[in-house]
Amino acid sequence: MYKLRCKSKKAESTCRRLSCVYPDICKHMDTDHTPTIELYKKAREVKGVKKILIASGVRYDLAVQDPRYVKELVTHHVGGYLKIAPEHTEDGPLSKMMKPGMGAYDQFKELFDKYSKEAGKKQYLIPYFISAHPGTKDEDMVNMALWLKSNDFKLDQVQNFYPSPMANATTIYHTGMNSLRNIKNNTEQVPVPKGERQRRLHKAILRYHDPAGWPMIREALRNMGKAKLIGKGPNCLVPEETRDEKSLKAGKGGRPALSRHTGFSQFKKANTKPRVGGNRQRAR
Ligand code: SF4
Repeated sequence: MYKLRCKSKKAESTCRRLSCVYPDICKHMDTDHTPTIELYKKAREVKGVKKILIASGVRYDLAVQDPRYVKELVTHHVGGYLKIAPEHTEDGPLSKMMKPGMGAYDQFKELFDKYSKEAGKKQYLIPYFISAHPGTKDEDMVNMALWLKSNDFKLDQVQNFYPSPMANATTIYHTGMNSLRNIKNNTEQVPVPKGERQRRLHKAILRYHDPAGWPMIREALRNMGKAKLIGKGPNCLVPEETRDEKSLKAGKGGRPALSRHTGFSQFKKANTKPRVGGNRQRAR
């Protein structure tokens, strides 16, 4: 966002918006990335500099406003992988983070793939997501996991929201109110995932491919009336219990159920895409 700013002194002096880029990009916001493009070019010309790589931090909803910037970035400054942070796929949590919807991600991905191809490079986007953020219902997590599955993403490390000082999300976490809006006469009750069980469930759903979370996910899906997502089909999130697991559940003995230590899941063997995820500071 280098040198991106409000174009109108008059509008800026009276502006009451919380964000220049949410719920949409303000018409007064300058999205011309020329200063960044020129900075990259100058940096490449510095004697002794062989390569400059951008690993993360791209505000992709702004970047797509200036495809010249995406081309410059993708052609010269991506070292195979670029991390970006959609954080979620569902509007409930995204609106509490003041984050753009997945439409911006799709646009960015399209440009990223196009310019990577033109540059003759095989490059990947690594999206980051968060679980248990205020504003997230169990159903939102399921929808996000279905999106991840349909895009063949299996997250290795995930962020589970943790309230930290000075964050708006922390206010929502503690009050259950949408502090992004005037709270006078505001009756909106924000769903807040709390307690060990629900927080573990949200994290498990985000890691839908990990057998350790399957018993918990199955139980939640059945309680939500979404048992059709349990099974072998391409639209299913987790497989059915094995015969041994069913026997164990019914108290008839059998081999131990799958646990984190079984390790060798069909997903690991079949995984051909880079495993994605990270441990940024707020990950707990
Ligand atoms: S929200 Fe719009 S008017 Fe307000 S400071 Fe940002 S760009 Fe300017």
